[in-house]
Amino acid sequence: MEEILLVTVVFIFGIVIGSFLNVLIYRIPNDENIAFPASKCQSCQTPLKWWHNIPIISWIILGGKCYFCKEKISMQYPLIEFATGMIAIVLFLKLGLVWYLPIIFMVFVLLFALVMIDFKYMAVPDSLNLLALALAIINPHIIESIQYALMAAGGLILLKYYLEYFLNKEAMGEGDIIVAGTMGALLGFPLFFYALFLSAILAMIPSLIATYTREDKAVPFVPFLAIATFIVYVADKQFMQLAQWLMYG
Ligand SMILES: [Zn+2]
Repeated sequence: MEEILLVTVVFIFGIVIGSFLNVLIYRIPNDENIAFPASKCQSCQTPLKWWHNIPIISWIILGGKCYFCKEKISMQYPLIEFATGMIAIVLFLKLGLVWYLPIIFMVFVLLFALVMIDFKYMAVPDSLNLLALALAIINPHIIESIQYALMAAGGLILLKYYLEYFLNKEAMGEGDIIVAGTMGALLGFPLFFYALFLSAILAMIPSLIATYTREDKAVPFVPFLAIATFIVYVADKQFMQLAQWLMYG
């Protein structure tokens, strides 16, 4: 019973942060202030009332339409709020009520923002990326996390140089390098490599589609790094077992 109550509180906290995440995703790429002004309808610019801003519930009450101009409101808003709530629950169940739970949650929220912004705008804002890295080292193993972050980012920079030398074109952006640092801090080794490997597999799917449909259009890589990081972070024990099994049978 207490567990259900806690999970509910964590979920509500998560969707409130998810609501703020929607603001980040919309305003950061447009260089807008994230705190002011209050939210407006993006069609008719009418400032929203407080009860239009309740995560998930408002969208359902309003039937997915603006209260004033009846223009459709993207389903992306409630979906992102719901997904953020789920991320909060998963991390809570994984870590329990530890002091660094909100920090780890914020790191994944920032990565989630980067995923959406990269998909939508093909951009990775340094502000969010560097903040995620800075927060990712704050945990009981801060010294190790700093070391892992440096190793992961440094390793990826070297990989980038080799790829560029052999492929003779630009490989990986600086956004990817910073995310790698965050991955290193969160996962350590060898889990970092598993996440890197998993992200490459995940990225192959849209890359293959892109090869057949469009002309050499770059596929953003940060979303796959972030998704793989979350999967490996949550299922770390399973990935360690899988690797053991693959290597030693
Ligand atoms: Zn409107």
